[in-house]
Amino acid sequence: METGKFRITGLSIAILAFALSLTQCTDLEGLDETPDTGVELSTTESSGILFMREEEKLARDVYLYLYELYPLRPFLNISKSEQAHMDAMLYLIDTLGLEDPVGENPEGVFQNEELQELYDELIERGSKSQEEALRVGALIEEVDIIDIQTELEEHATDEEVIRVYTNLLRASGKHLRAFVGVLGLYDVEYEPVLMDPEQYRQIIED
Ligand code: MN
Ligand code: MN
Repeated sequence: METGKFRITGLSIAILAFALSLTQCTDLEGLDETPDTGVELSTTESSGILFMREEEKLARDVYLYLYELYPLRPFLNISKSEQAHMDAMLYLIDTLGLEDPVGENPEGVFQNEELQELYDELIERGSKSQEEALRVGALIEEVDIIDIQTELEEHATDEEVIRVYTNLLRASGKHLRAFVGVLGLYDVEYEPVLMDPEQYRQIIED
């Protein structure tokens, strides 16, 4: 069948594809090339990974601190889960050739100043009573959920990064339910501090 002046054939497609690939090659010239680590991420995505590595450390360190004061099982169990999340973030950092902000830093020490301030404030607040300690746990999980969601929705592009964040997000929902559940055993009804009430309700009823 005649389609006018222009007839598309396998050969013309092949020639066109070849021409495009040549154009792409020339376009790439002149771009700065960093050492080849396989994957290249934007600065925003990379700094998000470094931040999340320390945010998971904040959760672990606060729960370990509070467990010393109030030996409630969830603090210990959840701190182990946060350790696993720290490990998952370190795996991403190593794979992507980034520099780990945690290194040999002991419990309660952070490179990121905001996280350092938040840690100091949260252990102080949590030290006031067992109820405050459990509220601090729920608040940390709210912060985590919000931050991971922002990374997923706005910055994460790499498949592995998305996979890890998705696992961390699911775990944070579980942890939030655990803290809220223990508060419930003490007849305390937790209200979300940062999270949108509708989203909070969905996570709790999940
Ligand atoms: Mn976590
Ligand atoms: Mn958590």
